[in-house]
Amino acid sequence: AAVIIDGKAIADQIREEIGAEVAKMKEAVGNVPGLAVILVGARKDSATYVRMKKKACSEAGIQSFDVTLPEDATQDDVVAHVKHFNDNPAVHGILVQLPLPKHINEEAVLEAVSYEKDVDGFHPINVGTLAMQGRKPQFVSCTPKGCIELLKRSGVQMSGKRAVVLGRSNIVGTPAAMLLQRENATVTVVHSRTPNPAEITREADIVIAAIGKAELVRGDWFKPGAVVIDVGINAVEDSSRKTGYRLVGDVHFQEASQVASMITPVPGGVGPMTIAMLLSNTLEAAKRAYGVA
Ligand code: NAD
Repeated sequence: AAVIIDGKAIADQIREEIGAEVAKMKEAVGNVPGLAVILVGARKDSATYVRMKKKACSEAGIQSFDVTLPEDATQDDVVAHVKHFNDNPAVHGILVQLPLPKHINEEAVLEAVSYEKDVDGFHPINVGTLAMQGRKPQFVSCTPKGCIELLKRSGVQMSGKRAVVLGRSNIVGTPAAMLLQRENATVTVVHSRTPNPAEITREADIVIAAIGKAELVRGDWFKPGAVVIDVGINAVEDSSRKTGYRLVGDVHFQEASQVASMITPVPGGVGPMTIAMLLSNTLEAAKRAYGVA
């Protein structure tokens, strides 16, 4: 059976490391990193994510600044808050919680965030430089960065290996493929129009699944010994739970763990890494601002 990659434990370790670096920064320059979070509307899931991010910041000694705007806030209101944080030197990272209400153009808001404070890594300058050889983005999107960090900290060699990424979204699949390529893996991206996804996935030494379909990826999609990173978070009905549902990945965990050499669980795999990478990006931004190593 596959070794389970404990994303929660690895994320906790990283958060401790970040906390120690923040304390060192405070001693050296008298300042700590600052993260601004903008939430628009009252979606319960978004409010939960924002609360988790703020709690993680406070545990690491990172200062958080937050603004909650009503559902009917205008695009100009949101952009004005973004610009205000762009100009605030105590804020090193700015995060706009997505999705925004339908009447607001998400692209316009994300592009208003200074690319030097874009800790989510969604600004076109950061996405563009990630795709360019010889260039270094200021920030890489947290979830794919977390996937690579999990592979590194689990001792998985990427250089020279065959990798398959399932999904081509801007926030997960595409940057994950770029990052694997930067680690010198040979990368194939499989998506909704790929006619033979299982056949292609079976060639991979490393698989990152980011599709958003519960347990779509079955055990026979994997080459024996493959390393499997499952980004998917899908709720499926489960009447035996108090909540009435449980969370599963895009990969059929039980089948895959018979074939893979290493696998991430859902929950407790990639999820906790996303927040750890947000803190890491915020720390990096503050280090650049204060010129500390
Ligand atoms: P998305 O819907 O934006 O993109 C899904 C991608 O999957 C698309 O590129 C599509 O081409 C591809 N796809 C759809 N059906 C497919 C199929 N049958 N075969 C192959 N590819 C197919 O989703 P996303 O934002 O990239 O998120 C993917 C999953 O990851 C979701 O379950 C989401 O909840 C989860 N997620 C988790 C985290 C985290 O762990 N913190 C962060 C972001 C997303």
